[in-house]
Amino acid sequence: MTTPTDTSLELGPHRKGEAPAEPAPGARSKLGRNLALLAWLALAAVLGCTPHEAHDSATGHAKANHRYAGDGPVRVVCTTGQVAELVRRVGGDRVRVEALMGPGVDPHLYSPAASDVSRLTEADAIVYNGLHLEGRMAELFEKLADRRFTLAVTAGLVERRDARLRKPPEFADLYDPHVWHDAALWADCVADVAAALGEFDPKFAEAYQTNAATYREELLASDAECRESIAALPQARRVLITAHDAFGYYGAAYGLEVFGLKGISTEEEKDLAWQAELQRIIIDRNIPAVFVESAVAPRVLQALVEPVRGSGHDLQLPDEPLYADALGPADSDAATYSGMLRHNTRVIVEALAP
Ligand SMILES: [Zn+2]
Repeated sequence: MTTPTDTSLELGPHRKGEAPAEPAPGARSKLGRNLALLAWLALAAVLGCTPHEAHDSATGHAKANHRYAGDGPVRVVCTTGQVAELVRRVGGDRVRVEALMGPGVDPHLYSPAASDVSRLTEADAIVYNGLHLEGRMAELFEKLADRRFTLAVTAGLVERRDARLRKPPEFADLYDPHVWHDAALWADCVADVAAALGEFDPKFAEAYQTNAATYREELLASDAECRESIAALPQARRVLITAHDAFGYYGAAYGLEVFGLKGISTEEEKDLAWQAELQRIIIDRNIPAVFVESAVAPRVLQALVEPVRGSGHDLQLPDEPLYADALGPADSDAATYSGMLRHNTRVIVEALAP
């Protein structure tokens, strides 16, 4: 049988520069990682003895031969909150959806716990973001794809070579995974998921289409709202500086110039030079605020804010975070996808408006 390449799961094959360098609230302890490793070895014992076809976890094409054979609701395990909401809305009563990553969890750094591996192996279907967002789970998805319906919601965008997909030059020829920040782009992912679920579970294909159409309308309404709010800002104020480079799609869709302190490259020396460059941009262009993210430690931005303030420039750091890679807590205004988009837009406009 094949030996599982467990170390890459534990250490994470995530792209250099993509994951924020600060440990997120959801980052796993060493003990947790070891437990996950044991579970992973057990899983490999079940799955690893048959040769598996290549499954590109970054693009995540679901295999056409997976068909749902059960009578009851389809048990779907998703990664992020935004993906879970998408599947819940498209699936309606036909699905039971669980999300592995709660509010405040950084998907770039997330390593699956033993309990996560169990949930994934017991699921009827697995749906994740893809494009290496869940970098440390890539190999697990590849394995699971042989036995389960395993779908990346962004697979259709890649297949169609959607012109809106961002491929920042610093990104080693990879796509930026944060597509959900463009609501119209995410609405296309909704249609793709509905089509894929319909193939997996043909009896309910029509229901998936109907639910998807309703959800898409909501997303497109949020898209229009967002566009209108940002358009009210003077052009010179439309500069968004955040902890890591998660808002490229948001900026492209709604008309802001976007800079991340961390993100495209986390190599330390480069970071320091980039930090100095950002400080210069903030002062020269009289930028009034920079933004904390919910899943990145606020001190990441303090390193930028303090020297700028020290030079006499009045730079604001709004108390409310932006939700970059996760939805907000259940009792917050960002607990849903549209709520998250509206929250981010409100915080941005309030802080950047003259
Ligand atoms: Zn991110």
